[in-house]
Amino acid sequence: MTRLIFLGPPGAGKGTQAQTLADFWQIPHISTGEILRQAMKDQTPLGIQAQSYVDQGELVPDQLVEDLVQERLKQPDAQSGWILDGFPRKVTQAGFLEELLGKIGQGGERVVNLDVPDEIVIARLLSRGRKDDSEDVIRRRLEVYRAETAPLIDYYSDRHKLLTVNGNQSEEEVTTALKNVITA
Ligand code: AMP
Repeated sequence: MTRLIFLGPPGAGKGTQAQTLADFWQIPHISTGEILRQAMKDQTPLGIQAQSYVDQGELVPDQLVEDLVQERLKQPDAQSGWILDGFPRKVTQAGFLEELLGKIGQGGERVVNLDVPDEIVIARLLSRGRKDDSEDVIRRRLEVYRAETAPLIDYYSDRHKLLTVNGNQSEEEVTTALKNVITA
């Protein structure tokens, strides 16, 4: 059973790699950022609530993402494994997830940290052109990453769940390295 959490700064290539591996293993790629962007596009209640946070590079309130992850992991297609991309993003969310996975009998998850230097991340984000990729918002998202998300590296390392891959290689090399550490 493949249950993976992708960690790493914005622009590390998490989304691309998560999608490639999810296709390879035929399991869902669950990106909270994608789900929020779709909800904003459709102007659902979730999207309307999330909009101002996403636009400013802030994290949306825990409750919003926790509810959506809980619902998503209960879906039939998530019973054979999943890749979570963008969740958890802070220690409180990691605690929530740990408890949820215990409750729904989906333990044994591993965490992959895609390690990429700051200057590479910034260059990649600037070339991506997403609405929340303006320079100020990028700066804010990196600050939020360092303050809230980077502590998860220690959190999962302490729990012996962490694998690290060098994300500063070609897309194909990163995919190969990920497959190697995950199946090792
Ligand atoms: P991403 O596509 O993962 O870069 O996420 C884009 C934006 O969605 C983030 O900058 C946050 O505003 C929001 N977001 C995504 N996942 C989370 C999460 N787990 N907790 C809070 N906000 C999130």
